[in-house]
Amino acid sequence: MRSPLRPPAAVGFIGVGNMGRLMAPHLVAAGYRVYAADNYEETLRKFLAAHRGTIALSYNDHGAALDAVITMLPDGNVVREVLLGGGLADRLRPGTIVIDMSSSDPVGTRALGEVLAKRDVHLVDAPVSGGVKRAADASLATMIGGTAEIIERARPLIATMAKQVFLTGPLGSGHAMKALNNLVSAAGLWIAAEALLAGKQFGLAPETMVDVLNASTGRNTSTENKFKQQILSRGFASGFSLGLMAKDLRTAERLAKTTGAFSQLTQLCAKIWGDAAQALGEAEDHTAVVKFLERASGTTLGP
Ligand code: NAD
Repeated sequence: MRSPLRPPAAVGFIGVGNMGRLMAPHLVAAGYRVYAADNYEETLRKFLAAHRGTIALSYNDHGAALDAVITMLPDGNVVREVLLGGGLADRLRPGTIVIDMSSSDPVGTRALGEVLAKRDVHLVDAPVSGGVKRAADASLATMIGGTAEIIERARPLIATMAKQVFLTGPLGSGHAMKALNNLVSAAGLWIAAEALLAGKQFGLAPETMVDVLNASTGRNTSTENKFKQQILSRGFASGFSLGLMAKDLRTAERLAKTTGAFSQLTQLCAKIWGDAAQALGEAEDHTAVVKFLERASGTTLGP
């Protein structure tokens, strides 16, 4: 077995958006040599300026120097396009590890893994949960799919960004788990918003309802961490977009359909979040989904 990837291994970090810009600095701090890429020029420029010692990744010039590539991109199609369409995979040395930390479609991940394996490049999926707050303090949860040997080699890199590490099984299992997690999370946010809107129209105060839910069996991560902080305050700035949540729900829906599992609420969830993303715009924060319900109810949870 080849040894685990410890500093000063060279890492290409592709996608320094809301999450990547907060995750990659932990690698820099640990002593890895970080080459960063993002196709939004301003985002990359800001990242490089804020983190001295990081270098703009040129797939042609630096590809062969990398020990690992980390992708934190919108979805699996973009990951595939960067690696195969963009020609990066052609430059990587045999034995290089690609860690896809994006929330990608598990079926696409397995297919990409097969293509990369033919070049002796190894893929693991290690999507994360915890949002920008836990990305910033390196306490993300991650669910990792892949072969044991490659995961062990990738572990030191992942450990710089994540506190809770779950090995979920073969390649693609992390991405499947991530989509299912977001399904449960999205359903919880939506149903809490429906309940609060009904309660408000009945005469209950939204803050009181959130307090009661959080002390009762109705609480969930949205009632605890999103309603007062992002929704009742009208901040709508959690750092996770509505378009990305709708994408995760489509992934969960496909997964459920493929397996033949009973999935009525899953399908409904994918549809209503998709409708909201279309109506409000994909770039809106996912907590702003409540505005879609407010419009339909003719009332607001805000002051
Ligand atoms: P983001 O849109 O803020 O960042 C993605 C970055 O990828 C952008 O800066 C974009 O310019 C860049 N990009 C797009 N196409 C590219 C290409 N072809 N080459 C290079 N760069 C490219 O998204 P995010 O919120 O950082 O999320 C990234 C991934 O992590 C998504 O899959 C998302 O579902 C997942 N995720 C997000 C959160 C969160 O709280 N934001 C939490 C967990 C998981």
